[in-house]
Amino acid sequence: MRMYYLQVAVPLHLYDLFTYKSVQKIEPGCRVRINFKERNIIGVVVECYDSNPTDFSECKIKSVVESLDQEPYADSKTLELLRFTAKYQHTPLGMIINLAQPVAVRKGLDASRKPRFAYRLVNREYETKAVNQHKVIELLRNQDVSLTEFKGLNIPATCLRSLENKGIIRKFDLNEMDTDIFLNLKFSNQLTLNDEQRTALSAINSVNYFKVFLLKGVTGSGKTEVYMQAIETVLSRKQQVLVMVPEIGLTPQTIERFHKHFNVPIAAMHSSLSDRERLDNYLACRDGKIGILIGTRSSVFTPFKSLGLVVIDEEHDQSYKQQDTCRYNGKNIAIYKAKIANCPIILGTATPSLESYYNSKIGKYKLLELHNNAVLHHGIVTKGIIDLKHCSQSSGMSDHLINEMERELQKGNQVLIFLNRRGFANKIICNNCGYVFQCKFCDSFLTYHKNKNILNCHHCETNYPIPRQCPECNSNNIDIMGNGTEQLEEFLKSRFPDYPVIRIDRDTATHQYKLGSYIDDIKNNKYKILIGTQILSKGHHFPNVTLVGLLNIDQSLFSNDFRATEQLAQLYTQIAGRTGREEKDGRVLIQSYVPNNALLQTIINDGYDKFAELCLRERKYLNLPPFSFQALFRIVGSNKELLNCRAIEIYNTLLQIDTEHGLTITEPKPALMEKKQNKYHLILMIQSSSRKQLSTFLDKAVIELAKGKINSKVEYFIDVDPTEVLQ
Ligand code: ADP
Ligand code: ZN
Ligand code: ZN
Repeated sequence: MRMYYLQVAVPLHLYDLFTYKSVQKIEPGCRVRINFKERNIIGVVVECYDSNPTDFSECKIKSVVESLDQEPYADSKTLELLRFTAKYQHTPLGMIINLAQPVAVRKGLDASRKPRFAYRLVNREYETKAVNQHKVIELLRNQDVSLTEFKGLNIPATCLRSLENKGIIRKFDLNEMDTDIFLNLKFSNQLTLNDEQRTALSAINSVNYFKVFLLKGVTGSGKTEVYMQAIETVLSRKQQVLVMVPEIGLTPQTIERFHKHFNVPIAAMHSSLSDRERLDNYLACRDGKIGILIGTRSSVFTPFKSLGLVVIDEEHDQSYKQQDTCRYNGKNIAIYKAKIANCPIILGTATPSLESYYNSKIGKYKLLELHNNAVLHHGIVTKGIIDLKHCSQSSGMSDHLINEMERELQKGNQVLIFLNRRGFANKIICNNCGYVFQCKFCDSFLTYHKNKNILNCHHCETNYPIPRQCPECNSNNIDIMGNGTEQLEEFLKSRFPDYPVIRIDRDTATHQYKLGSYIDDIKNNKYKILIGTQILSKGHHFPNVTLVGLLNIDQSLFSNDFRATEQLAQLYTQIAGRTGREEKDGRVLIQSYVPNNALLQTIINDGYDKFAELCLRERKYLNLPPFSFQALFRIVGSNKELLNCRAIEIYNTLLQIDTEHGLTITEPKPALMEKKQNKYHLILMIQSSSRKQLSTFLDKAVIELAKGKINSKVEYFIDVDPTEVLQ
């Protein structure tokens, strides 16, 4: 009987591919159920041969239990991208595939095409004052819109049903339609570009092959408008576009902006989609039925029939890096995706990451700059530092800032206070013996959340009841220390009772819709005082904000992590961009105990570019990235002794690997947070002056380490280009 031999990637921390046989030919990109170590698991075929490619005898090779797909759910370019990712990150291919595939596929569900419903406007005369119904009709005037898209735009299903029952709109299955999605292409709401925007756009439009553009422009300089018009060009070539946004950027406002511009099918991979809906979007994109896909980092793994452009908005954003056990950098992978598709990619930001900045300086990326605000009449922003020494404070706010705030509020303006710390207080202490309450599972202090009336660990999310007694000395004299956004909210509400306050952090903006509706409310002046964490620092336009205050930034200046100052400079520049947006002037005040700190002075007085130059010079001197390349071994286990032994073994193995001069390996040492979720973490850093050398070394390391005895109690993970080097 004719046999086929399959190389299968399994979703386990194993670097090998495994060989199985099958009487039927199974294409790469199809799932198979296999028996693996006495268990049935789902693997993905990555190669199919018609003769035995291994040294194993025929009878030793097991047959697959079942084939799950008629056709591959992923195309060959996506498989190539997954292989690249696995190789680049030195992570097992099966783990990368597992992470990259839609959850429904991972769960073994049917991955064939299913109906994908959309609505079409049939009665164009109908008018209504009902807000949501009006919105639906306006959207449908331009194009058909899918059910999942309406979800992303926060339109309730009842509203659609009611219009459908009245015969105003009609539901149909998009997958039944066989029309060209680019037919009748029409663009709305184009603006006339200014000179700089035009220069940038024509540079992008002039290429239809792989090239990386760094579009650097201050907030409000009209980068989004440049993306929009670049997308038009690509759609006109009948090609698809991938737009990647940071985790918290996928709000209904973002999605709506695209809908208002384009009448091609748009899909957004937002958090309220079901597993099936995500899979439907994935397959539709693969089959060329979607013109623009908008998503966060994981959308990079979506297959495209004909990809013509990738846009990465806010390219410096940390959320493009996946920080869980299986780490990858969505930005690097997107660049490779564009390379495979041979299309341009735009990295857009006001504050480029130092890596991208450097790459543009050495000519690897083409730099396009927008220096001016796109809106002619915009305000002037002044900046200042408040010296916290000898200054009285309430809930972390200096009197000076409070007075400035009062003045702006009295003028009818909005004020934004930024504090990157959730909760009410970040330490609970015993006043008698000084004990600080800690998480049982992590080396971290607990945060007091007053509204929920709990203590919470921000690292493993475990909740604890409010303690009445100190576990060390039984004293009842328990107190709180350090302030978070919740406390700030309470204070500002009582200090300014006449001005409505809104707090936006992960506890209040639990969903993208909620964040979206808060942003609308802020723009509509419903709130006067805005308190926010990182969430409020991105991409939104608040024309009435005239004062921004930044609290608690000093620790970034003294962090051991060399990226902390870069992040502070980005944050400061982004936050400062929230003010002076339209006619009104703005003011940014930063509170610090070290107002004369040289770095702080540079960031504030000389701007981001000067800072970036200075920081690059320092990194060069210290031989840090982007002038060197790093990989971190994270060694994790719940038994501390076993972990230490294994870490030493790993270290010794690494030391014995042959390598040329220029590669350094540090001894394993505890991570900054040694205990996390009841496991201990050790880290070991490898640094090289050449990426190639580092990569070759890691390839060898993986092979050598696999030869040693496998100890399932201790795992190791490789993090290439780590962005958290201490944790
Ligand atoms: P960015 O993405 O750089 O922050 P946006 O593209 O969102 O900037 O533009 C900021 C504001 O300026 C938006 O309200 C946008 O409509 C407006 N704008 C952008 N380009 C132009 C232009 N060429 N003419 C007029 N207004 C513009
Ligand atoms: Zn005590
Ligand atoms: Zn914890």
